[in-house]
Amino acid sequence: MKSAIIPCSTGVCHSLDWKKQLSQAISTPQQLLERLNLTAEQMGDGQAQQLFRLKVPHAYVDRMQKGNPNDPLLRQVWPSEQEFNSPSQYLIDPLGEQASNPIPGLLHKYQSRALTISTASCAINCRYCFRRAFNYADQAFSRQAWQQWITYLKAHPEINEVILSGGDPLMLADAKLAELISALEQLPQLKRLRIHSRLPLVIPERITDSLLDLAANSRLKWILVWHINHPQEIDDRVAAAAKRCQQANILQLNQAVLLRGVNADSGVLKQLSEQLFDIDILPYYLHLLDKVTGAAHFDLPKPEAQAIYAQLMAQLPGFLVPKLVQEVAGEPSKSFAFW
Ligand SMILES: *Cc1c(COP(=O)(O)O)cnc(C)c1O
Ligand code: SF4
Repeated sequence: MKSAIIPCSTGVCHSLDWKKQLSQAISTPQQLLERLNLTAEQMGDGQAQQLFRLKVPHAYVDRMQKGNPNDPLLRQVWPSEQEFNSPSQYLIDPLGEQASNPIPGLLHKYQSRALTISTASCAINCRYCFRRAFNYADQAFSRQAWQQWITYLKAHPEINEVILSGGDPLMLADAKLAELISALEQLPQLKRLRIHSRLPLVIPERITDSLLDLAANSRLKWILVWHINHPQEIDDRVAAAAKRCQQANILQLNQAVLLRGVNADSGVLKQLSEQLFDIDILPYYLHLLDKVTGAAHFDLPKPEAQAIYAQLMAQLPGFLVPKLVQEVAGEPSKSFAFW
């Protein structure tokens, strides 16, 4: 029997398993408009979903303001007509990732860190994502692929940290994650395990007891890098999830993307940093948008980004100022973008 979708504002959703919440995610523009009391006249018909599918779980939609066509959370997921007008400098693979992909699903761009593409899918489809056009079909995520990763890591002892990324690595069930992590733990060279995930934000119930047990029993130091762009994304459920991670001794950082129409404002970014600190997450990176096809309307000229950043620095202690960075293909690290 297909269970009814329970709006989370009733509070009932807290008891819902994350996988169930995932399976009930909104996947059509019409559904989303109805949920938010908005019309196609206000928002367009959402045809850009042909370019990149619409996907957003109810737990995230709950934090959007009903009737507001300019809601900063809605903007991150709504297939806007502007996506069809992509200038030619906005590319399919802006980071040249397909080139630094020695074996399927593993990226080794920076000396001491290897990044694995652990899954192809995400809990939410973010319109500005640089991977929206990434060719995941080429990536293998099987146990055979994991074996290749292990072989590669052994041959590269300079790597002491593995980053599980994606897609979203927490789309993997805990039992599968446990298998992968246990294989990584056998490599003495590794000190840290980093997880880049948007799932704990989108569906906070993803922070399960079994995931926390895995962290507690790991010999590696765990780092969870959240992806929160706007203070309105943080609600009580997110705060509770972060608290649980903190109690499990997981270091929590946040990366955000600077997005026109969403958070390109020093006041909003200041509030984001303050609220992150309140829930034991430290700001890590503020990324300039990667110039991916379809996302040009989120971009802002670099001098404008730098001006916002200067205002942010003037309002916060240094430890609450994320590093403003951009990816420059071929560079040995992320590039500081303040000059
Ligand atoms: C961003 C990124 C990393 C991590 O960089 P840090 O500066 O360590 O956070 C690692 N590998 C790849 C391919 C990346 O894009
Ligand atoms: S990789 Fe991250 S930013 Fe991109 S769509 Fe998935 S959750 Fe969103």
